Amino acid sequence: ARLANQIAAGEVVERPASVVKELVENSLDAGATKIRIDIEKGGSKRIRIVDNGKGIVKDELTLALSRHATSKIKDLDDLEAIASLGFRGEALASISSVARLTLTSKPEAQEQAWQAKAEGRDMAVEVLPAAHPNGTTVDVVDLFFNTPARRKFLRTEKTEFTHIEEVIKRIALAYFDVSFILTHNGKQIKHYRQCANEESYAKRIGQVCGQSFLANAIEVKTHHNDLTLWGWIGLPQFSRSQNDLCYSYVNGRMMRDKLINHAIKQAYSEYLASDQYPAFVLYLTLDHREVDVNVHPAKHEVRFHQGRYIHDFIFSVCNKALASVSE
Ligand code: ADP
Ligand code: MG
Repeated sequence: ARLANQIAAGEVVERPASVVKELVENSLDAGATKIRIDIEKGGSKRIRIVDNGKGIVKDELTLALSRHATSKIKDLDDLEAIASLGFRGEALASISSVARLTLTSKPEAQEQAWQAKAEGRDMAVEVLPAAHPNGTTVDVVDLFFNTPARRKFLRTEKTEFTHIEEVIKRIALAYFDVSFILTHNGKQIKHYRQCANEESYAKRIGQVCGQSFLANAIEVKTHHNDLTLWGWIGLPQFSRSQNDLCYSYVNGRMMRDKLINHAIKQAYSEYLASDQYPAFVLYLTLDHREVDVNVHPAKHEVRFHQGRYIHDFIFSVCNKALASVSE
């Protein structure tokens, strides 16, 4: 079992930041509103995620650590309209095959918390009583301790932590109603507070993207039939260092989609000088059935059923916004 899981891990667990992404997405799927991410030594020593989500009942702890045991796919209809972030049921099994993983959880209705550890070659799971408030903690220690080749590929502590920070930023831009605390080696690095209302969204955008982005961006919100595009379009006056401020989301999921990027780039093209770059945070929402999210295993790419229509919509909203401020 461990070997099959390690092979699967090659796909899911590339580096500490990918572990963080999978675990935080699980917390979000569990409805958490507070997520704490504690990192030690760039994640190679420890990645610990503490959430206040719905928890895992004692009898399902073992199942949660086994492959394809996802609780999220019930039938084919579910697959087509899937809204949750993780749905392949591989993350915990894969991570526990390449690290020492401890899962501790307490659902509200359960009096006692329980803890599960996957141990040894056959990954037998031991379940013991534990102390824990409502919610779940996943503690991942010594990542890649048993796969030295993979461990060698890890970059410096600082580089790995930068990747983790980027993952948290991308997620924080999608979940305004969730608070995130990120620590590194015991020091608090980021605290994104829960946004109580839409007015405070801009505050988080400023926290994540920087005040200078916010001060030079225009907010857009446009509906067309069942499409909505909302977000901030940065004026084309940014230097190279801000080139990375390109965030787009489809139905709440971070995307690096060619079609979306192309539409945005085209909208900017006539407004950019040769040393300027686009900077944006954009949220596209549409009917789940209009988009296939399972095109790429890392789930960054999607397939739109009406690509041309969506491309033109994004282009025209962005282009109009840029035209109005460039007058
Ligand atoms: P997937 O997310 O694809 O279902 P995972 O391996 O990531 O697969 O997780 C397996 C299962 O464990 C999930 O389906 C969920 O039921 C449970 N689980 C994992 N993390 C949490 C969490 N933080 N809170 C509640 N349940 C969780
Ligand atoms: Mg998952």
